[in-house]
Amino acid sequence: MENSNIPTNITNITRSFVNPDCRLVAVSKTKPISAIKEAYEAGIRDFGENKVQELTEKEEQLPEDIRWHMIGHLQRNKVKYIAPFVHLIHSVDSLRLLKQINKEGQKLDRVIPCLLQVHIASEESKYGWDEEELTTFLNGDEIKEMQHIRILGLMGMATYTDDTVKIRSEFRGLKTLFERLKGLDLPDQVQMSELSMGMSGDYRIAQEEGSTMVRIGSGVFGERNYE
Ligand SMILES: *Cc1c(COP(=O)(O)O)cnc(C)c1O
Repeated sequence: MENSNIPTNITNITRSFVNPDCRLVAVSKTKPISAIKEAYEAGIRDFGENKVQELTEKEEQLPEDIRWHMIGHLQRNKVKYIAPFVHLIHSVDSLRLLKQINKEGQKLDRVIPCLLQVHIASEESKYGWDEEELTTFLNGDEIKEMQHIRILGLMGMATYTDDTVKIRSEFRGLKTLFERLKGLDLPDQVQMSELSMGMSGDYRIAQEEGSTMVRIGSGVFGERNYE
């Protein structure tokens, strides 16, 4: 396995950031431990995975100071496997899932940091909350009972397209929603400070539109080969 471009890729990506304070989450899904170690040696501490089993297997084999981000659709019955160590769950796409995370956090006496995933793309298949659901939930009483989660902000994925005008407008819409929610009288469990948007193909647009965290896979590790 030849991964020798990883440090160079990281340098090039961080140099091209529109916002140098934006956090880089290196998305290591499908990539071997050796590749993650290379990125780690180059200074990366934030890694993102989209499958629970892969995430837990990698976590066991790698240094403890890595901050693991769950970025993929999470099934409720699998929350327990990542609850003890996960740094941030970006992909909280329903109230039922959030309740389960709160429950697992309670068992561990841990407050689990989360982002709420908002549906911004035009594709049907993408998970997430819409604006109305979010506003209702954040203004409601249910959230006040949830002592073992902390909502740090929002996550969104733009439509998979070459149309940068469309991508930009989706990111801008998410940023507008983020600012609007920030203006609400939010409960203690909610703080709108992180906006996770942008991937290898669109992170510069996302940063121009206010992203605080980008999730970059192929740009760091090279193209993925799915079997
Ligand atoms: C795979 C993935 C990414 C990274 O995609 P790249 O195009 O390889 O940068 C970002 N976010 C999510 C949710 C992903 O599943």
